[in-house]
Amino acid sequence: MSSETPYPQMFDLLRQFEHQKIVFCQDHTIGLKAIIAIHDTTLGPAIGGVRMLPYKTELEAIDDVLRLSRAMTYKSAISGVNLGGGTAVIIGDHRTQKSEVILRRLGQFVEEMNGSFIASLDMGTTSKDMEFIHMETNHVVGLPKSLGGSGDTAPFTAKGVFYGIKAAVKELYGTDSMAGRTVAVQGTGKVGEHLVSLLREENAKVYVSDIVEDRMIQVSNKYGAEAIAHNNLFDMDLDVYAPCALGGTVNNYTIERMKCKIIAGSANNQLANDREHGAKLLEKGIIYAPDFLINAGGLLSCYAEIAGYNVLRSAALTENIYEATRSVIQKSLKEKIPTHQAAMQIAEDRIALIKKIKQN
Ligand code: NAD
Repeated sequence: MSSETPYPQMFDLLRQFEHQKIVFCQDHTIGLKAIIAIHDTTLGPAIGGVRMLPYKTELEAIDDVLRLSRAMTYKSAISGVNLGGGTAVIIGDHRTQKSEVILRRLGQFVEEMNGSFIASLDMGTTSKDMEFIHMETNHVVGLPKSLGGSGDTAPFTAKGVFYGIKAAVKELYGTDSMAGRTVAVQGTGKVGEHLVSLLREENAKVYVSDIVEDRMIQVSNKYGAEAIAHNNLFDMDLDVYAPCALGGTVNNYTIERMKCKIIAGSANNQLANDREHGAKLLEKGIIYAPDFLINAGGLLSCYAEIAGYNVLRSAALTENIYEATRSVIQKSLKEKIPTHQAAMQIAEDRIALIKKIKQN
């Protein structure tokens, strides 16, 4: 997107990935600027996180909301749940600008969408924030356990990522044992910490990096992982690079340097450019476990709130990520296509088939 034309061809942008709707929500009296994007609702209402970030430009926020909502469609479809894809972003710093009034006002906008969008957690928001949104609408999940919600999604997300890593390791080595495997976890936040714990329980050699040094040292000491400078991990000889911070870390610059055999982590939109970088990873022989497939554990735990499941059912659905990852890797090898593309095809096929029976 060009920075010279602030709102270029908005309908072209929506058409690019076939988004259905984008809603701009503003209330200048309280300083709310938010955007809700609905990508696809064939399978069911669009679920998606509420992300609050101090985007440098409004275009950056639009780009993020479009990419994230599309990824949610694929995530829901490939996970086998009856939900579509959407996302909400609030423009602002969650540390200084987030408040009850901002979240409740967003809740009112969600309510106006009559259930076509269901809000959940993302970067910059917590279960407590979902409680504020819930004061204005029932179309929200990820509520605290005390309110009958699923609480923190991070343990489920980390578990799914762990299954994704093991599936890729199994493909490569014929065994999914993590003992002695080297894994670098980038980002020791909520998901990263749980993932480090799971990996260390299976005696993997774990490296951690985080731009917040205190946090990195804390996790490193707690689990016996080795702290590394966050820019160094791309030069390391690793079995697995696990991106658990921001998206876009798999790009021309990093792929060139990468010596890892597998990429599998929780961050959304890890490939800076799906087509180009998916192909480059295939060419380089690096197995990429698609982000929207292996980070679906959080979605599956939230789905329990909608479908009335218990925690055991969510855990079983999350466990399916292991076999689903193996199928995607095998399809990629058989058809000589990037794993990302293989996973997208599986998701698109499901959407197309369900669309057919809904039209009858
Ligand atoms: P978080 O905010 O708790 O943790 C992110 C961590 O990454 C922070 O500690 C931050 O300091 C660190 N970080 C930021 N930039 C970095 C960099 N350049 N290098 C190293 N570390 C850096 O977030 P989270 O909930 O743990 O989520 C992590 C990622 O997984 C996000 O991309 C999120 O969208 C995605 N995700 C999370 C969930 C979930 O259930 N929480 C579900 C699906 C996807």
